[in-house]
Amino acid sequence: SLSGKTAIVTGSNSGIGLGVTRALAGQGADVVLNSFTDTKADHALAEELSKAFGTKVTYIQADMSKGEDCRALIEKAGACDILVNNAGIQHVAPIDEFPVDKWNAIIAINMSSAFHTTAVALPMMRKAGWGRVINIASAHGLRASPFKSAYVTAKHGIVGMTKTVALETAREPITANAICPGYVLTPLVEAQIPDTAKEYKMSEDEVIEKVILAKQPSKQFATVEQIGGLATFLCSDAAEQITGQALAVDGGWTAA
Ligand code: NAD
Repeated sequence: SLSGKTAIVTGSNSGIGLGVTRALAGQGADVVLNSFTDTKADHALAEELSKAFGTKVTYIQADMSKGEDCRALIEKAGACDILVNNAGIQHVAPIDEFPVDKWNAIIAINMSSAFHTTAVALPMMRKAGWGRVINIASAHGLRASPFKSAYVTAKHGIVGMTKTVALETAREPITANAICPGYVLTPLVEAQIPDTAKEYKMSEDEVIEKVILAKQPSKQFATVEQIGGLATFLCSDAAEQITGQALAVDGGWTAA
C-alpha cells in the first residue's frame, strides 16, 4: 500500500497523468494534481478523486514551462515521496519549418521541467528515507519519427536524465525510472491527427491505421490504466532494484 506517501503528478488533469493519479490514489497515496489552467474543473477533479479514493488529493497550479513554477510546485506541496514528471505537449512539423516558440515550449515542458522538480524533490525524498522518480518519457525517447524533432529530442533527453538521477541515488532507497508509452489514445494524440494527416497527405482514419498504429505491432493503443499499473509497480518493494531503466509499454514498437 502507498498510504502515508505523497505523490506529485505534473500535468495530471487529463490523459496519462490522470490515469497515474487514479492508480496511485487507488493504492492509498495522497496525490497533488497539477496543471497550468487553475479552473473550477481542476479543483472539482481533485475533490472528486479525494472522495472516490478516500485519500488526500489537492490541486496546485504551476506552469511547467517555467522553471520557477516547477520548483514552487514541489515546495508548496511540502512533501514528495513519489514524483511523476508527466506534463507534456506535442507539435508536428518538419524541422526547417518548426516554430521556434514550439521548440522552446516542448523542451521546457517535456524535459527541463523534470530537472527543476527533481532538484527540489530529491532532498525531500532523502529526508523521508524513500523515494521514487517516475518520468513519463515515450517510445520517442528510444526511437525517432519524422516531424517530431522537439518531442524526440526532449524525450531522449529525459531518458538520459533518468539514468543520471538513478546513478546519483543508486546507494539510497530512491529509484528513478522512465516509462516509455507507445501510442495511448489521449487528447495529446487526438490533437496531432489532423496535422499528421496534412504532413502525410492522408485522411485522419488512414493516419490512425497507417502512421500511428503502424508503429505498434500489437495494433492496439496502450491505455492510461496500463501506464498507471506500471507506475504503481515501480513504487512497490518488488521494484526496489529497478532503477535507471526506460520501460516501454508500446505493444512491441521498440522491439523492432
Ligand atoms: P494530455 O494532453 O492528455 O495531457 C497532458 C497534460 O499536461 C495535461 O494534464 C496538461 O494540463 C498538462 N500540461 C500541458 N502543458 C502544461 C504546462 N505548461 N504546465 C503544466 N501542465 C501542463 O496528454 P497525454 O497523452 O496524457 O500526455 C502525458 C505525457 O505522456 C506527456 O509527457 C506525453 O509526452 C507522454 N506520452 C503520451 C503518449 C500518448 O500516446 N498519449 C505516448 C508517449 C508519451
